[in-house]
Amino acid sequence: MKALVFTAPGKVELLDVPEPDPAPGEVVVEVRAAGICGSELHGARRPGFRQPPLIMGHEFAGIAGGEAVVVNPILSCGRCPECRRGLRHVCREREIIGVHRAGGFAERVAVPASALRPLPPGLSWEAAALIEPAANAVHAWNQADRALGTSGGLGAGGDFGTEGAVGARVAVIGCGAIGLLCAATALTGGAGQVEVTDLSPARLAAAQRLGAQVAGPGLSGGYDVVIDAVGSAVTREASVAHQRPGGVAVGLGLAEEEAGFDANALIRSEKRVLGSFAYRDGEFAQAMARVGDWDLTWAAGYPLAAAAEIFTDLMNGGLHPLKALLLP
Ligand SMILES: [Zn+2]
Ligand SMILES: [Zn+2]
Repeated sequence: MKALVFTAPGKVELLDVPEPDPAPGEVVVEVRAAGICGSELHGARRPGFRQPPLIMGHEFAGIAGGEAVVVNPILSCGRCPECRRGLRHVCREREIIGVHRAGGFAERVAVPASALRPLPPGLSWEAAALIEPAANAVHAWNQADRALGTSGGLGAGGDFGTEGAVGARVAVIGCGAIGLLCAATALTGGAGQVEVTDLSPARLAAAQRLGAQVAGPGLSGGYDVVIDAVGSAVTREASVAHQRPGGVAVGLGLAEEEAGFDANALIRSEKRVLGSFAYRDGEFAQAMARVGDWDLTWAAGYPLAAAAEIFTDLMNGGLHPLKALLLP
């Protein structure tokens, strides 16, 4: 079968590879749509968890046993303290399909049967491939909602008139796919106002089609929630600087390792910074229920034959399309 293989740092190739050989408890998924994630473009340039040779792809949907399914790519041990508390997305032995084992950039892939989720009828393959990134956005929003809903301190509902994140004034830094999905999730989740920033007019236009407003010029400060979908030292600094006292910044971008922000300013105003990685099982289901309602015209599909070219172009800084989906 054909697969897009990460063969060396900075290099992906469309190759003929052996058919997947499912282990006991695994099933073969015929991939219909698989999203290329920014983390993969980064990981291909500078190999970290992803080591060549590897078939990447952790955002995908297809057919398994005659049924339309989407794959939840988070694999967990089920035994560690986090798994036992229902937080298997931060399992101590966490692995991710498409990162630690072969993923969806192929005609077919074997996955544990436990990773399959039935797709709701009527959802397009393109929308189905966006469930996984949307689940990241749902988790980020819920992180903010939980933080603002806790009693005590300046984050308590009484002091600033917010109860959880409903009605919150929200900023989203970065309008790549994750930032757009964060803006859409916040609006669906009851944010009072969502302002976005990005350097690209096309990305800002996509955010506006989802109902967000362009912050401008630049963020204006005092936000209840700042979502950093970039993750550079500069955007992390901004996520703290533009947060109101007792607000919350949620970081899910991983562009750089540096924290970047003024920790003393954070302490003096009881600001908060939360990490957000992946999603809980229930949040994956929430994303599945929501993604079909949103404007997703910023995502574009490509045949597997074009995969190496589009991946390489995006890896080298190409900005179009905003989100590429491979359609094997
Ligand atoms: Zn991803
Ligand atoms: Zn575990």
